[in-house]
Amino acid sequence: MPEIKREVRPIEVNYVCDACGKGMMVQCGPMDPHSGDIEHSCLICDHRQTFQWRPYPRIDHIGVNEKS
Ligand SMILES: [Zn+2]
Repeated sequence: MPEIKREVRPIEVNYVCDACGKGMMVQCGPMDPHSGDIEHSCLICDHRQTFQWRPYPRIDHIGVNEKS
């Protein structure tokens, strides 16, 4: 396969707290290397939630013409 290049732009991906609907979830512990579990807590109400493999907030890259 030949090398291919494309232009991308960074987007920030946040997760809004399911409990209060206002705070952003942020990672508050290390990722479990076996399960991929990452504990997060809400900045406002301290609600705890576990996500797998991909922490919030994070930066993803998408093609310049793609919709996020
Ligand atoms: Zn909250």
